[in-house]
Amino acid sequence: MRAALVARGLTVLEGKKAEGAGIAVVHGCVVTARAERDARKAIRRLRRDHPDLRIVVSGCHARLTGEAASRELGADLALPDAGPEALATAIRERLVPAGLLPSCAPSAEGGRRRVALRIQDGCDNSCAYCIVPAVRGKPRSVQATTVLEEIQSLAERGAPEVVLSGIQTGAWGRDLDPPSSLTDLLEKILALPRKPRIRISSVEPQYLTPRLIELAASERGICPHLHVPLQSASPRLLAAMGRADVSPTIELLEKAWARHGDLAVGFDVIAGLPTETEPEHLLTVELVERLPLAYLHVFTFSARPGTRAASMLPSVPERFAVLRTRALLRSDERLRAAYRAKILARGRAEVAVEHMGEDGFGRGTTERFLPATVISHAVKPGALVRGNTDGIGADGALRVVPD
Ligand code: SF4
Repeated sequence: MRAALVARGLTVLEGKKAEGAGIAVVHGCVVTARAERDARKAIRRLRRDHPDLRIVVSGCHARLTGEAASRELGADLALPDAGPEALATAIRERLVPAGLLPSCAPSAEGGRRRVALRIQDGCDNSCAYCIVPAVRGKPRSVQATTVLEEIQSLAERGAPEVVLSGIQTGAWGRDLDPPSSLTDLLEKILALPRKPRIRISSVEPQYLTPRLIELAASERGICPHLHVPLQSASPRLLAAMGRADVSPTIELLEKAWARHGDLAVGFDVIAGLPTETEPEHLLTVELVERLPLAYLHVFTFSARPGTRAASMLPSVPERFAVLRTRALLRSDERLRAAYRAKILARGRAEVAVEHMGEDGFGRGTTERFLPATVISHAVKPGALVRGNTDGIGADGALRVVPD
């Protein structure tokens, strides 16, 4: 989105500098009730504090809220179905007064970051707790040729890393004619003469194949990092969610760790889904504590109107949901610390530099998804820097001394 806005001659402001902006984009999520509330609050607050600001609402929040309700909240423009290019065009044409813009030469600046590239949208599962299929529709994959062109273009603009993303990224290609697969796509990407580092955003357990794991774990051009929405270790609870048993996935991952002990794997886990019992919660805690995971993303269940889970009974009392969330967050903390220590001892890391810190050192993300500081004043955003690990900073980031 940033790159598309910059390419149309608009300047994108962040942090304190954004105070002076004329247009604000609220790209809102609705996956949890809290995310939806936060987006609503942000729109209201922007309208109250900046009466002259033009406010654009996009993403799933705009789709679920609708145009009329978005305007009532204070938005000037709701763009529920716009991808980055259409959104940037609409902003430029509908909100920027003619004659206000300087030349609109594309800027490389937009590419010098880790860029999420949406290669797939939609989902045809119906997990009990999830509102996503209602707002994103059926699975649709972007054609391989388009993905390859985008990746080359991002490489030319200096992006150090491209994150292949989607609602069901692992299902990429199944709806195409002829059908294809994410591993086919990755092999095509690896054959490109010039490409940024590639990361796979998230793969549902059923799409995690031995070939996909092996590509991520051993191909240099692909980050050795997998994110898996596991949700729970309890077969009964998973069935209640409408999700498959995860034991085959755990077996596959254990085999992968036996060969590639440093492979970074993170899980999504959910706490407090209606009908979840204490023993079922403990099954999940025991599983994540037993595995050499890099991190957890912990979600507390929040009922989304229109989903099956919203009427599932018995619900978990809030205090238990909070306690279970905290237990999983403690596991997350332990896992992160142990994994960071493991990578520190490994001695090597590759950092995609995204911005410079106040100390003049580069800040970015390693191939194994750890936040990192590059101990050098000579690096620039957009660089992909290899080096030796040299401790953990006070901020928890891995310190890397470039070669
Ligand atoms: S697979 Fe993911 S997006 Fe699809 S319904 Fe389940 S949780 Fe939602």
